[in-house]
Amino acid sequence: MYCLIFTTLMLLSPVLCTKTSQDGIIFNKYHNHEQMLKVLHDTNAKCKDITKVYSIGKSVKGRELAVIAFSKSPEFHQPGVPEIKYIGNMHGNEVVGRAVLIDFVQYLCIEYLKGNKEILEFIGNTSLHIMPTMNPDGFAIADSQEDWPKDYIKGRYNANGVDLNRNFPDFDKVVCEFKKNSHLGYFRKYVAIATKGLVLQPETTAIIEWIMDKSFVLSANFHGGDMVANYPYDTTCNGKSREYNASPDDRIFRQLAHAYSNGNDHMSKSTGCSAGDNFKDGITNGAMWYSVSGGMQDFNYLATNCFELTIEMGCEKFPPPSDLPEYWRENKHALMNYALQATCGVKGFVRDSATGEGIPRAVVMLKDVHHAVWTAEHGDYWRLLAPGTYHVMVEAQGYENSVYYEVDVPECTPYSAVTLDINLNKETSYETSQRYKETMKHLRDALKAIRED
Ligand SMILES: [Zn+2]
Repeated sequence: MYCLIFTTLMLLSPVLCTKTSQDGIIFNKYHNHEQMLKVLHDTNAKCKDITKVYSIGKSVKGRELAVIAFSKSPEFHQPGVPEIKYIGNMHGNEVVGRAVLIDFVQYLCIEYLKGNKEILEFIGNTSLHIMPTMNPDGFAIADSQEDWPKDYIKGRYNANGVDLNRNFPDFDKVVCEFKKNSHLGYFRKYVAIATKGLVLQPETTAIIEWIMDKSFVLSANFHGGDMVANYPYDTTCNGKSREYNASPDDRIFRQLAHAYSNGNDHMSKSTGCSAGDNFKDGITNGAMWYSVSGGMQDFNYLATNCFELTIEMGCEKFPPPSDLPEYWRENKHALMNYALQATCGVKGFVRDSATGEGIPRAVVMLKDVHHAVWTAEHGDYWRLLAPGTYHVMVEAQGYENSVYYEVDVPECTPYSAVTLDINLNKETSYETSQRYKETMKHLRDALKAIRED
């Protein structure tokens, strides 16, 4: 009330009338680019042992694509610790994810300093990278409109007028045309098909290099304009505008979508915001909702190890700032619930049986789920899986294939991943063939010597 009177008397914008928590987090305010960067750097200064701020590149207009990482060793990947990422504001005018991630960054640091057990355990066992905006130029355009409600489209695209969520190599095309369901390790020959006619934007290129560089396990990409957790595949294979298109990992993707939606009391009851939406429990297969090609979510799944969902945070793309505290309240648990999914399934190390050294880029496969993941730089891997019995095998260049190991994956509770370490023996066929060649050479030399006698 005090706030309202003050605003009316002084004719100030309601944006200046901030609602600050006891901890100093301002919940009902949009941060412009510089203010957002300041939050990241201030958080880093407060929590310097467990955070790192870095940039993965620049937007068309030269704004930093800034990330803050939380982990007990934020400078480096710790062997055996899963890497998670949250990306907001890919469409510049869909701003709730951006605002909620800026809150989340501050919340994690404050709760860590307070000694919150859940946060201490989370930061001790995972590595979370948060990018509040992937499209700072689009946000600046959307935010520059003074009137409410804001235009429905203005600011969606990057500064070159490109929809970033249609700008990724289209490996769905490969899945549809060639019925291949693995990852880029097997897809190299299809890269030309997936990238045909594509003009990559600087924001997209930066994201692709980031995803290929880090061994991300789990990700969420935050949007707005509807309310649902959307999982792969995003594209129909028959050209229809909507039809369920299940990936080989449909069961775990549904579990991941439920993990987000169940953590958000509003989303879990959402049937959708638009005519034609008919979501159940606030989740949907992407292609069942509407077919999208060149999206970031399916690129993550098909080209890398990372399982990503597209989270639609609410019906309004750019709600008034006074609604933001409620969005924070709704999403706070969902953000934690979802990230903890990275600690379920199967994890372990693939090592050389003679030296004990981890083997990077070993391919971890399952008998009945036709989608492989590969090991990270220290031979560590994570395979997100729904509860059930699976048969896991590993192959790596220069090594004999492992046998199939049977693994029982339990219901997901935090940090419940089953550990399966696999040792591989060096392939001997190379040495055998060398010996064979040498033997043949001796034989030829001997025969030659006999003939010359
Ligand atoms: Zn969007």
